[in-house]
Amino acid sequence: MKRFQLENSFFEGLNDTYLFAGDGPTTLVDTGVSTENTREQLADALAAEGIEFADLDQILLTHFHADHAGLAGELQAESGATVRCHPDDAPMVEHDADAEAAVQARHERLFDEWGMPDSAQEQLFGFLDGGEGLGGEDATVEPIEPGDVVRAGDERLEAMHLPGHTAGLTGFVREVDDGRELLSGDALLPEYTPNVGGADVRVEAALEKYLSTLASVEAAGFDRAHPGHRYPIEDPTARAREIIDHHRERTENVLEALAEHEPATPWQISAHLFGDLSNIHILHGPGEASAHLEHLGAHGLVERDGDRYRRTGQEPEIDPLFPDPQ
Ligand SMILES: [Zn+2]
Ligand SMILES: [Zn+2]
Repeated sequence: MKRFQLENSFFEGLNDTYLFAGDGPTTLVDTGVSTENTREQLADALAAEGIEFADLDQILLTHFHADHAGLAGELQAESGATVRCHPDDAPMVEHDADAEAAVQARHERLFDEWGMPDSAQEQLFGFLDGGEGLGGEDATVEPIEPGDVVRAGDERLEAMHLPGHTAGLTGFVREVDDGRELLSGDALLPEYTPNVGGADVRVEAALEKYLSTLASVEAAGFDRAHPGHRYPIEDPTARAREIIDHHRERTENVLEALAEHEPATPWQISAHLFGDLSNIHILHGPGEASAHLEHLGAHGLVERDGDRYRRTGQEPEIDPLFPDPQ
C-alpha cells in the first residue's frame, strides 16, 4: 500500500489517497478533489509507481465528500474502473439530481431552524456554490456493503461501516504482518475531530451514530489506522477514546452555554463554542451544536421550544450519553 498526499485548497490541507497494486486489481482508496492541480499530482504520483490512470481497475471510496470522491468519475471514464462505495453515499457520488435536491432543500430548512442569520446563509451558499465543480464528473457506482471483502492489489480489504460524519462512511480493514489496520477515511483523524451534524445533513442522530462508530473502532483494537487526512494513527484505540472524551467535554460546554443563553438556537450555541465562523465552518459549527443538542434531547437533558433549546432541569448525568470504554 502506498499513500499519496494530494492538495486540497478548498477544504484546507491535504487529502490522503492510497494505492494497492500487485497481482490483483489495481485499486485506489479515495481520489482527492476534482481540480486540474490535484489530478496532475495524482497522475505524477501514480506514474512514479509505473501506473497510468488507464491501468486503474477499482476505486473504493470511504465517503461521498468531494475531497475524497471528486476525481472518481473522471478516473472511471479514463480507465473503466469499478467505483464502489456504501449504498447510502452512492447517490451523492453519482450526483443523482433527486438526492442533491433533497440535500439542498434540507440545508435551506435546517439553516433557518438552526437560527442562522441571512447574511451567514448567503455567505455559506456562496461558498458551497463556489465549490460545485470539485465533485467532478458523475461516476457509476457499485455498492460495497459492510463485511464485503474485495481484492486490492496483493491484499484483501474488508468494508466496515463507520457512519456519523456521513451516512455511508466506510473504512477498509487490512491484514498486515504485524496485525490489523483500518483505512479510516474521515471517521478517525489525527489532530482534529471530523465534523458531525453539518458534514452530511441526511444523517439522523449523527452524534449517536458517530459515538457508536468510535466505540466499534475502539473495540476492534486495530494496530494502526490510515486516515483520509494527515498521517497514520499509531494507536487507533486510544484515538477513538480521545474523540469520545472530546465530545463529552463538548457536551458539558453545550450545557454551560445553555445555562448562560437559554432558550438558545444551535447558531447561538455554536457562537458560544466556536466564535465567528467563515466558509465551510458556517455549516459545521451549528451542525455540530445541533447534533449535540439532539443527543442531549434524546436523553431527556434538553427540550425544544420551537427552534430554541433549554435544559429540562433533569440532573445532568452525562455518563449514559457516552459509550463505556471497551
Ligand atoms: Zn469528509
Ligand atoms: Zn475529508
